[in-house]
Amino acid sequence: MNVARQVLNCSRFARHSANINYRRFCTSQCIMTSRHTHAKRIEGLDKNVWVAFTSVAADPSIVNLGQGYPDIPPPSYVKEALAQAASVDQMNQYTRGFGHPSLVKALSQVYGKVYGREIDPFKEILVTVGGYGSLFSTMQGLVDEGDEVIIIEPFFDCYVPMVRMAGAKPVMIPLRLKSGKKKDIRSADWVLDPDELSSKFNSKTKAIIINNPNNPIGKVFTRDELQMIADLCIKHDTLCFSDEVYEWLVYRGHQHIKIATLPGMWDRTITVSSAGKTFSVTGWKLGWSIGPEHLIKHLQTIMQNTLYTCPTPLQEAVAQGMLLNCELMGQSECYFSSLAEELEGKRDRLAAILLEAGMTPVIPEGGYFMVVDVTSLNQDLSHMGDDEAYDYRFVQWMIKEKKLAAIPVTAFVGDESKKQFEKYIRLCFIKKDSTLDAAENILKNWTKI
Ligand code: PMP
Ligand code: GLN
Repeated sequence: MNVARQVLNCSRFARHSANINYRRFCTSQCIMTSRHTHAKRIEGLDKNVWVAFTSVAADPSIVNLGQGYPDIPPPSYVKEALAQAASVDQMNQYTRGFGHPSLVKALSQVYGKVYGREIDPFKEILVTVGGYGSLFSTMQGLVDEGDEVIIIEPFFDCYVPMVRMAGAKPVMIPLRLKSGKKKDIRSADWVLDPDELSSKFNSKTKAIIINNPNNPIGKVFTRDELQMIADLCIKHDTLCFSDEVYEWLVYRGHQHIKIATLPGMWDRTITVSSAGKTFSVTGWKLGWSIGPEHLIKHLQTIMQNTLYTCPTPLQEAVAQGMLLNCELMGQSECYFSSLAEELEGKRDRLAAILLEAGMTPVIPEGGYFMVVDVTSLNQDLSHMGDDEAYDYRFVQWMIKEKKLAAIPVTAFVGDESKKQFEKYIRLCFIKKDSTLDAAENILKNWTKI
């Protein structure tokens, strides 16, 4: 055999064996995909609005009022406290699993004042990875297969997947716009129907989730509304999970009331909050749950067997920020109130820009989002098909054509309420003036661009 032929044979052999190996690889992959499929508990949970919309909005030419994060700087003392903490060797090692001692003590001081009761830093507080971690440990620690959990629409989108992953059934109840309201709509105009709410409670109801102030609509629940919810929780002996990550961001004329402070509610409520929202440091991902020892201990069981602990320097820095503002509470320099004051101006500015552009904003009483009815724009999106809800198509169109990002509001509701909310989009206004200027420019030239 000449050399050329030998080379040819060799390469044929190589290809042949490569093919066999490839086929073997494919077969093993097929076996892998049939045997190693997803766990049932995540069935249908693969779509996520943040995953879908944050990457498209990352293009710097887009004015991003979508995902909720501040582009204003956090207070310098928390950044300095973090640098200081990281410079101490011991602070770079594991700390107490359920919360760094200086943080839980600082939280118990601040919240002791707010709740008007002593809060045991070691038994009644759990520090976790963000508000998300608090919600997750609450759901996993307290909700069981076969339970029902009532969720008020529109809701922060992760509630439904978290309830499902705990094996329970989400039961939705929408906030409804008071009939006849067409102008000057405020988030207070979105209310629960007492009879409808009461009809959702039954012997399987384990808990109701409230989000106060609400994301996306900005509603701050009144004492009467909270009392109605509390009465039902007590009557049906259910728990209440109160997501209060925007607790400090409440605008003039409104007061944030913790449902856990209503008579009979402390013992049945877990309250969730977040350092990300409190100090405008969403990337720090620290949150906490507060509640009675008999409930918090189950969340601690989840924590110790999943994440175990949170980053020590971050906890130390948040502790310093909490202590500083605890001293300042009631004074104008306190960040808890000064941030809300700063944001109120931004809220009013954004609302005025939107009205000018012919849209109908819902003025929020709290939080840093504003939902906007875009019906009056009559934007024809039929060329985009009808596979997705109108608001999803509208936001995709707006990002592409107008270079302005928002979040579609139907991401925050269940299937049955999609029609009610599909003409709404959500805008975030915790943004520096130059970002709001750029948004204003787009909205002012809406018909020209
Ligand atoms: N709850 C609500 C209502 C939120 O908007 C968010 C988003 N930040 C969270 C919980 C989660 O908070 P964190 O970023 O601290 O995990
Ligand atoms: N809470 C933020 C919002 O509502 C961001 C949530 C997220 O990005 N997962 O925009």
